[in-house]
Parts: sequence; C-alpha cells; structure tokens
Amino acid sequence: MHQHWAEQLADRVIKEKTKPYLVSAGMTTSGPAHFGTICEFLFPFTIKIMLEKKGEEADFILFADILDAFDNVPIPMEKFRKDLTPHLGKPLVFVPDPTGQSKSFGDYFLDEVKNLIKIFGVKVKVISAVEVYKEGRADNYAKLYFENEEEAKKIIEETSGREIPSDWSPIMPICEECGKIATTRVTRHDSENYEYACDKDVKYTKGCGFKGKNKLTDHKYKITWRLHWPMWMDSYGTSIEGAGVDHHTKGSSWDTLLEVFKRIYKKEAPIGYRYGFILMEGKKYSKSKGLGLGISELVKFVPVEVIKYTLIKPDLEENIDINPTPQNMLRLIEDFEGAAKLTGNVDEMDRATRKRALAFRLSVDKMHWNSSFLDILLYYQIYGDWTEVAKMLGDNDGVNYLKPFIQEWIGKEFIPEEYRFKYQPAKVTDEKLRGFVEHLNEKMDALAIHNSVFEFAKTNGIEPKTMFGEVYKILIGKERGPRIGKLIYALGVKRIKEDLLK
Ligand SMILES: [Zn+2]
Repeated sequence: MHQHWAEQLADRVIKEKTKPYLVSAGMTTSGPAHFGTICEFLFPFTIKIMLEKKGEEADFILFADILDAFDNVPIPMEKFRKDLTPHLGKPLVFVPDPTGQSKSFGDYFLDEVKNLIKIFGVKVKVISAVEVYKEGRADNYAKLYFENEEEAKKIIEETSGREIPSDWSPIMPICEECGKIATTRVTRHDSENYEYACDKDVKYTKGCGFKGKNKLTDHKYKITWRLHWPMWMDSYGTSIEGAGVDHHTKGSSWDTLLEVFKRIYKKEAPIGYRYGFILMEGKKYSKSKGLGLGISELVKFVPVEVIKYTLIKPDLEENIDINPTPQNMLRLIEDFEGAAKLTGNVDEMDRATRKRALAFRLSVDKMHWNSSFLDILLYYQIYGDWTEVAKMLGDNDGVNYLKPFIQEWIGKEFIPEEYRFKYQPAKVTDEKLRGFVEHLNEKMDALAIHNSVFEFAKTNGIEPKTMFGEVYKILIGKERGPRIGKLIYALGVKRIKEDLLK
C-alpha cells in the first residue's frame, strides 16, 4: 500500500519521537501571502490531523519571524515607498505599517496570514519572534553560541560550503540609535555582554555609525537565521517541522540545523521534511513581485476545501503548478466533487484513487454541497433566482453554501466563455432542426438528450459538431455553451418546445 505523505510523517513521529508531540512551522511575513504561504501552515496542520486520526495528541505552533530585516518594499506597498524607505534594515516588526491598519509592517502581512489561517479552518497558536526573544527564551542559546562561537562558525562553514566573513557573529544586534538590525556587527563579547558597531553597508541601506553595548538579557538582538531556526525548535520541543525545498537542498539551513543539534545541543534533531514549490503558470512565485490572482482573492472564488484538497493531494516534494484561470478552477472543483464521492475503505483503493479520497478526508469534515458547482452555475444563469435553483436541484444547503462564490464568478466575469450564456430562443424554421426539437420528450434525462443529439446528427447525415453548433444557436444565440444535455434538461424540454416551435 502506498501511504499518503501525511501518514508517513505521522508514523515517523509516533515511532521516533517522545510525547508530547509538537508540530511546528515558521514563516517570515515580509510580503503578501501567496499559495506557498498556505502550504506553510496547511501541511503541518495536516500532519497534526493525521496524528489525531491515529489516536495521538499533538500541538501545532507557528513562528512568525518578524524580527527579520525589512529589505525590500513589496508591490502592494509601492505607493508607500517614500514613507518606508527610511525604515529599510530595521526588523519588520519595528517598521510602522503605512496603512495604519496593523501594529507594524511585519504585523500587516502577518494579520493577512492570520486571516487566511481562520478562513482555512486551521487551528494553530501563532507565536511572534518578538515574544520568543522578549520572554528570554533565546538568551541561553545566544550564550551557548557565544561560548561555542568557533564551533558554530565551523558548522555553518562546513554545511553551507561558504566562507564566513571575519566579522561574523552568532547574533545580530538591533542598533539602539537607528533601530536597524541589518547594518550592525558585534565587535567584542564575553558570554553575556557584547559591543557592537552599526557601520555596515548592505546595499539597500547603510549603518548610522553608532557604537553601543548591551547584555543578552536586554533582548535587543536576534540570533542569525541558521542558528535561530534550531533554537526555536529546541526551545519549544518540536517533534517535526518542514520547510520548502530551498531550505533543504545541500548546503541549506536544514543541514546546519542537524549539525547544531548534534554538535552544540548534543541532542537528536526533530524530524524534517521538505515540500515542493507552488508554481504559477510554471513560474516560481516571487514574494515581492506577485503574480496572477492572489490567494486572498482566490478564496472568494473557490471554496477553501477545494484549495486545501488541491494542495494536500500531490506528493509532498512535487511542485504544484497552479494557474488560476476560470477553466482550471472549474477543473479543480470537479476533481474535488469527484473525490467527495469516493467513500469506502481507502486501503482497498488503487493508488491514485486512495490519494484523492485521503486528500478529501483531510480537507473537510463534511461535504457542503451535493449538486455540482457547474449545475448550480448553469441553473442560476437560466432561472436567476436562488430559491428556484435550490428547489430544482433539490439541494438547498448546497446552493446556499456556493451562492457567494457563484455570485463572485458572475460579478467578476470569471466564468469561462462556454459557460456564459443567456437563454434566448430563436424561432426554428429549418425542417431538420424542427424535427430534432420535436423528437425530444420530457422523460429524457440530460444524458439521453445528449445522446439524442449525436443520434439525430448521424441519422440525418449531419456532422455532430455542426449539429451541436446549430442547437446552441437556437437556444442561446452562440455556437458553444454548457453541455448540451444538461442545458436542455435544465431549461426543460416542455419549455424549449413551446419557445422554439411556436
Ligand atoms: Zn544604527
């Protein structure tokens, strides 16, 4: 049996780690959320759910690394470039939010993530790096790194394959004069106190020249990334934490983390896993540039469970290519609706089916609609009345659930051309076409009607494609449209006969 990645990882946690289990994750919110951001909280949450499905308890925490330096003005903030530029080099959390909506620039994008976490129904405790340092959790680690500075440096050099500059330090002081973290360097230290100079030029900003000294217990520093990552996992007792493949390639920070655990903490490292990139139209998403429909917009068009299903289904290390066109989004919804029908024991399913069924079960507690999204869209375009649509499809809850999404599709003209139509019956004069309409009867279902178009075309020596085109034209005034059987069935045979044959 081929296990889903969440099963494999949950089994490893149970086998290799001791209780209490902690699934952790981390992210830096320096720009707008994108699909990759969703994976950063959805994948660990999925592991937590899988552990629970296996009868175990697990906590899930997410570290928001907003002490990182603000190094780039993202596109949505471009209009505030003038206000933001003086703050380049400061920790994201100490940069004011120019929109005035959030506590800081880092919080502005973190608030967006928190909102998505809510929308996606993910239960997680979000911990800001600021709290981690303020609580003094990092102090003992910083001290340990100061005491083992040569070893820490050697580990980074060996695992990254890069030469470390002579002014390297395990910590990055925050300048008391200008507030920047990107431009400082430690000039002297013992195991608890340090002196620093704010005099580095990091291209996007320059230090102010200030020289100061502090104690680790003042909490005015951050540990450098490669040493900070293992710090939070050890401090909180992480059992498992994943990251994108870029943190897991040879020479990347995961290799450093493993050595830090082994040689400095002298402990066993957490379980690591890596996941692929989310590509947009085959391209890697760029945080600062953005591309296509953003995730915060997309959740207005597509129910989140469909997005969850789409992200959870593939193999973990596979890159997921998402191109949010209307056609592609309809395909995702149909795939999801199909997976909802896969009931029964997953262990008796073939590999591909099992994957879909499990991804569905990990994405939702219950299916919110029974009729298909496309049918509801079709019926609404014909009847223009939600109550009527709900009655005709016999799915009141489902129609109500999908109504806001479908309204968004219609309002924003997101509907693919072939599904966009208006019923505008033409008087049929052509004998053959009249014959076709006459032979339809009210007992036929959508499939029977669809087949009858083919049969009628064949019997009368008409190209099926031409025949379909003609039928669409007399119904909706254009040559393409929704599936013909469904369309005629939804319109009602009795009604179209009256309208077309008058
Ligand atoms: Zn400074």
